[in-house]
Amino acid sequence: MHIQDILSNSKPSLSFEFFPPRTESAWEDLYQAIRELEPLGPSFVSVTYGAGGGTRELTHDLVVRIKQTTSIPPVPHLTCVGHTEQEVSEILELYAAAGVSNILALRGDPPKDRPDYDWSESGFRHASDLVKFIRKFNESGKHPDSRGFGIGVAGFPEGHPATPNRVDELDFLKAKIDAGADYICTQLFFDNHDFLDFRDRCDLVGIHVPIIAGIMPVTSLSGMRRMAELAAGARYPAKLMQALGRAKSPSAVERVGIHYAAQQCADLLNEGVDGIHFTRSIKATRPKRFTTV
Ligand SMILES: Cc1cc2nc3c(=O)[nH]c(=O)nc-3n(C[C@H](O)[C@H](O)[C@H](O)COP(=O)(O)OP(=O)(O)OC[C@H]3O[C@@H](n4cnc5c(N)ncnc54)[C@H](O)[C@@H]3O)c2cc1C
Repeated sequence: MHIQDILSNSKPSLSFEFFPPRTESAWEDLYQAIRELEPLGPSFVSVTYGAGGGTRELTHDLVVRIKQTTSIPPVPHLTCVGHTEQEVSEILELYAAAGVSNILALRGDPPKDRPDYDWSESGFRHASDLVKFIRKFNESGKHPDSRGFGIGVAGFPEGHPATPNRVDELDFLKAKIDAGADYICTQLFFDNHDFLDFRDRCDLVGIHVPIIAGIMPVTSLSGMRRMAELAAGARYPAKLMQALGRAKSPSAVERVGIHYAAQQCADLLNEGVDGIHFTRSIKATRPKRFTTV
């Protein structure tokens, strides 16, 4: 089922993002966590893709395992960086053969140790090129579903650091939708005004596909620092930082972070959000328990 179908059957969607684990024991922990998550009926789970295809096999293996052994639809992330068209085509064929229905099409970032990265090394320069390519793949009839893959793309409520011109940025986002993407999943954000304003701006420029909100509960101060680096530009509002600053222990930090995220979600649900995607929130180690918000 395409994400669009899932959303039209039961909006808002509730979904989670996983990193593919690198060790056997972390695999087992994660897999157990997925099993515990299953009774909560998540709409889908997505699996990240290491920059430059660093987790290529791991992402594929986790996605296929989820597809084959659970009732949760998996959505693989796929990035352009470092991939030729031929390689992407092979990856799509594998997912199609496994009956995977959706792909999150991303550009990815050049490796940190390659500031002079030459984009001609990749078959695709922008995520919109990858979206076009997947559309063509869909039209080739290689997917068992005659519609092919549903395609998601990234959106940035606080803006993407490479495009300071926010008007151009919306045009680039619209180009991804015009190329054939059918939903947007956003970068994490901590101030709902940023998301709601982004949603309004999308509407104004004619972007009318569902927009799923990326939410990351802060569960540790070190994790927050790491995310500030990874999700470059994400702003931690003073209200959140004050509350975290009052927390006297790691478990209190976790409680504050989860409480803040729950309030964000409640507010977004009141605002009629299409879906909530808990991003980078599932560690390879098994959480003690899952709670619903
Ligand atoms: C929900 C989500 C999941 C993610 N998952 C992963 C993952 O699994 N693995 C990973 O490596 N990364 C992941 N990322 C990070 C993402 O790959 C980076 O943030 C990347 O820098 C942007 O990707 P994009 O798909 O938005 O790229 P694009 O849409 O190509 O945009 C990248 C930059 O180029 C600009 N741009 C776009 N088109 C043009 C144009 N025609 N001319 C000039 N400029 C243009 C955009 O404005 C933007 O600044 C994820 C991000 C999000 C929000």
